[in-house]
Formats: sequence, structure tokens, C-alpha cells
Amino acid sequence: MPIDPTAAYDPDNIFAKMLRDEIPCNKVYEDEHALAFHDINPQADVHILVIPKGEYVSWDDFSAKASAEEIAGFVRAVGTVARDNGLVVRGYRLLANIGRNGGQEVAHLHVHLFGGGPLGPMLA
Ligand code: ADP
Repeated sequence: MPIDPTAAYDPDNIFAKMLRDEIPCNKVYEDEHALAFHDINPQADVHILVIPKGEYVSWDDFSAKASAEEIAGFVRAVGTVARDNGLVVRGYRLLANIGRNGGQEVAHLHVHLFGGGPLGPMLA
């Protein structure tokens, strides 16, 4: 069920629980601004999700409310994850689903990172 990206942040969302170590994830990267882990239902040979550590529902509130340091840290983390997982030379795809029309299911901002082989026109 797609979420309402204008709703208040729900600290019980599944990615918030991962950030608090209440549920496990298959972690590939973590720093002070971001956590990255393998998607549980991969849509490509490599399918990693990168999330900011702050409480942001979607790109909308992240871009409006996050500090410049948080935004820079998150963007750098996405690039680091792509490099560290061997995706840069052959290329990859970034995608963020936002709200109902975007089909966003988890109410904590996440960027999908797809790669590992040629990608079709749309994923996730
Ligand atoms: P969609 O499910 O339509 O892709 P989202 O953009 O909100 O919507 O993506 C949520 C992603 O989170 C999905 O790709 C889903 O497989 C992934 N996911 C859900 N639960 C977990 C989990 N426990 N660990 C890793 N990935 C998860």
C-alpha cells in the first residue's frame, strides 16, 4: 500500500527499526549519515537500498528540511556504495519512489541502486 509522503514521520516503519538495530538487515555500508543494505526482494543482480539516518519520509521533506551536511553526506554515501560494489565502470541506476504515484511502500526515504548487468526500462 503506497504511503502518504506528506504524513508525519512514523518511527515504527521497517527502515527506522533497522536503524535502531531492532530488526536485522544485510548491511553493505554505514556512516554517520547513511545506511545501505541489500533489498530483500532484488529486482536486479545488485539491488541495494541507501537510506539517510535522519527521520525523513521522502525526498520532499529531506530536500526541504535536511541540513546541507546531511544532504551532502547522503549523496556521498550513495556514490560510495556504488563504487564499493563495483557498479561504476559498467553503470547502474538510481531510483527513489515518492508517495502514491511513485509507489513508495516504506515511509522512510530510500534510494534504490540497481546494477550488475543490463537493466530494463523500469525497475521497482
Ligand atoms: P516498492 O516496494 O514498490 O519498490 P519502495 O520504493 O517503497 O516501494 O521500496 C521498498 C523496498 O524495500 C522494496 O524494494 C522492498 O523489497 C524493500 N524491503 C522491504 N522490506 C525489506 C527488508 N526487511 N529488508 C530489505 N529490503 C526490504
